[in-house]
Formats: sequence, C-alpha cells, structure tokens
Amino acid sequence: MKAETVKSFLAERALLANGWHSDVLITVDGQGYIAGIAANTRLHSDRCVRLKGTLLPGITNLHSHVHQRAMAGLAEKSTGSVDNKDSFWSWRSVMYHHLEKIGAEDMHSIASQLYLEMLKFGYTGVAEFQYLHHDPDGNRYENPAEISLQCLQAANEVGIAYTALPVLYQYGGFGSIKAAASQKRFINTADEFLIIAQSLAKAVDGNPDASFGIAPHSLRAVDESSLRNVLRQCEDVKVIHIHIAEQLKEVEDCLSWSKQRPVEWLLNHFDVNEKWCLIHATHMSDEEVRRLANCTAVAGLCPTTEANLGDGIFRAHDYFSLGGRWGIGSDSHISVSPVEELRWLEYAQRLVRHQRNVLNTTNMPSTGKYLYQQACSGGAQATGRLTGKIQVGYRADFVVIDHDHPRLFGRSDDDLIDSWIFSGNDNPVTDVYIGGVRLIADRMHHNEDQINAGFQSVVNKLAG
Ligand SMILES: [Zn+2]
Repeated sequence: MKAETVKSFLAERALLANGWHSDVLITVDGQGYIAGIAANTRLHSDRCVRLKGTLLPGITNLHSHVHQRAMAGLAEKSTGSVDNKDSFWSWRSVMYHHLEKIGAEDMHSIASQLYLEMLKFGYTGVAEFQYLHHDPDGNRYENPAEISLQCLQAANEVGIAYTALPVLYQYGGFGSIKAAASQKRFINTADEFLIIAQSLAKAVDGNPDASFGIAPHSLRAVDESSLRNVLRQCEDVKVIHIHIAEQLKEVEDCLSWSKQRPVEWLLNHFDVNEKWCLIHATHMSDEEVRRLANCTAVAGLCPTTEANLGDGIFRAHDYFSLGGRWGIGSDSHISVSPVEELRWLEYAQRLVRHQRNVLNTTNMPSTGKYLYQQACSGGAQATGRLTGKIQVGYRADFVVIDHDHPRLFGRSDDDLIDSWIFSGNDNPVTDVYIGGVRLIADRMHHNEDQINAGFQSVVNKLAG
C-alpha cells in the first residue's frame, strides 16, 4: 500500500540526482521516504515548507569512535616517547588512558554531543564502530551490549541516522597475540560478540533511520577462523567494516605474519564485495589499489584523523581513477566537519603531486561537487541505507545551505559547493532534515543546551 504523503517541501535550488534545478517540490511519505520530485514548479500549496537556501543530499559519516570525542585535542603534546618521536602508537596509549574512566552513561552524553555536532555541520548519518564493550575494570555489563545501546539511544534522541557496528576484538596483534591489559574493555570471544550483535540487530530492526552491520576490528585483532564463523552466522548483515593498512608498522607486522600485505591478505582470503568497507586502506601497493577499486567495496577515508595521527596519505588519485568507491568518516573526531575531510583529501593530493584540482573528472570538473557526491554515495553504500541522493525512493535526508551567507555571496550551483568546501571556515548549514524531520532549524537543535550541559559535566568528571 502506498504510504500517505504527509509533507511537501519547496526548495529554491536543489542538487538532484540529475543535476541542479530551481523551484523543486519534494513530497515525502509518512515513512520519511521521498515520494515525488517536480522541478520548475509553481504548483504548490500554502502548506508546503519553503526551504530558503540551496538543498543538498545528506552525507553519511561512515566511521566514528564516540569515546574519542572526549579527548579530541588532548594528545597534541609530546609524550616523551623513545626518540621523542610521537606516533599513532603513542597517541593510542594516550587514548587508552583517557577511556579508563568513561562509563556507559558517560558514553550516552559524549555521543549526544558528538552526534549533535555532526548534524550541525551537515552529516545526516553516522556509522558507529564500537569496540568499547566492558566496564572500566574490564567486567561485563549485565547487558553485554550496554555501551552500544547507550550510543544508539543517543542517536535516536538527537535524531541522526545511525548504523550500529559492534566490533569483534580478540587479540593484541597479528598471529593471535594476547591482548594487553589496556585493551581489557574491548575483548570478546566470537560467541560473546554474537550476543552483542544480535542485541543491536534487534534494537535497530524496523527503524528506517538505522541499520546494522558488523566490524571485525582489524586483521591484528581477529583470527581467520573466528572471522569466518562470525561472517557465516551474520550472513544477512548489510555491511562489514574493518580497519586496515592504516600504519606502516601494521603492514610490516602483517608481512612478517603472513608474507602478505593487509589488503592483499584480506582480498586473498575473503569474498570482499559491496558489503565491505575498508577503513583507511592507507598503505597499498599498485596491485592492491587495482584490486580494491575493482571489488566494489568502499574505502572509508578519514583524512583529518589520518593527518592528525601521521598515518600517511591514501592513494586517492590512483584509486579514484580506477573507479574505486569511497566515503568519509571523522574517526577520532579531531574534526566533525565534512568540509574539512573533503578539503584535506584534495589538499593532500595537491601537496604530493604539485598540482591543483586533482580529484575530479573530465565530465565533472567541479572538484567540490565531485567529492561531495562521491562521498554521499560511498557513505550510503557503507551503511546499507537509501540516502545520499535527492531521488524518489530515497530517505528525505538533506541539508540546506544558506546561499545568502556572506561567504557564499554571488555563488550558485557548482561554484557554491566549491566555495563551501574550499573557502572559509564558518558554517553555512542552516537546516538539516532526516527522514523529512527538521532536526537542525536555523542552526539550532531543540535540545542543544541540555546536550551541551551533559557533555560538559562528563568532561569535567574525566578531568577530575
Ligand atoms: Zn577507527
């Protein structure tokens, strides 16, 4: 039965799946899906919501670790490590120390703040790669999915679309090395993990603004037979995310263990298809770039985190040229702005190649639009949701850009997106809709003060 049409919107200007249009009437059904689109229309009722600005499809943040939001900016001092050379690994020690005091209810407050910030910068969905499972002493909560459920509840309250990705984390290194004491909050057997996964799958069932997937943490944290077992038991799962080849040391350790590089090993041992999202994939050989681009999986790129951690630079020009799919994530939340992720993605290529406008195509010369649309598509695929396009049948997830903002004076269409992505720092996103519901209205969320206060008290507690 056709759902009842309950809302209609009139956008002055909109980026539809087939390009830019004016006076776009969008009707949304009772379930929050786009039911009709008519461009250049004068036919609309007075009950139609007028969207003052330029309408863009919503972009999904495909990689998030909630707890790291509470320490963003607190790892920018030398740790006094050997050779005075800080690295991903010294950062990770700092991060492990920070999460020692974070309880399940704290996670709810941190997630609420983080997801609110994401919405305000224009992200309409988030994939939460959740590897924190146990209490600060490493003991199981009465409900083993407690922390993941706190994050899901925060997302539901804030209103951002959510993909739950419970993480299987078994070991401390390649070859089933025992986990360190500092990793005690992450560790589960495959059977324990499956209980958490079932609980989350049930919790999101029937919610059109949520989806569910699984996340083996990395090749250093799971063994092959457990991964096969989990994939077999979760064969209907929509998406599978894994960290891979983020660090050179990780590549070296994988070579020592298997004589294969991480991406190579994964592609050789598993059917990596459109369900998969490989987070980072920073260090790849030519052959790995070619194989990953051809396998229809998404590369989950987190340019600000990768820069902050000194990971390296993803081979974006080579991978994109081969048609590789990709999306963006804010990962450690050193930034929660999609603008900054896309800007850094392009700028790293410019710095390495001594060129300008590297990541675009002959058919799509606008670098900003190309990056934005590709990232929207990749984020949708990596979360198994019908989002990222303003098109009939898709979720009514969209953002309104204030094209009368001084930063965007005189800009429209491709120039507007290019100017948004590549110039200035203030935020011209005024309104954000998820499933046709207005969550950010004139730059504010209805529960913003309370969410800020909750987060502040957690940060104060953690600092105490
Ligand atoms: Zn990550």
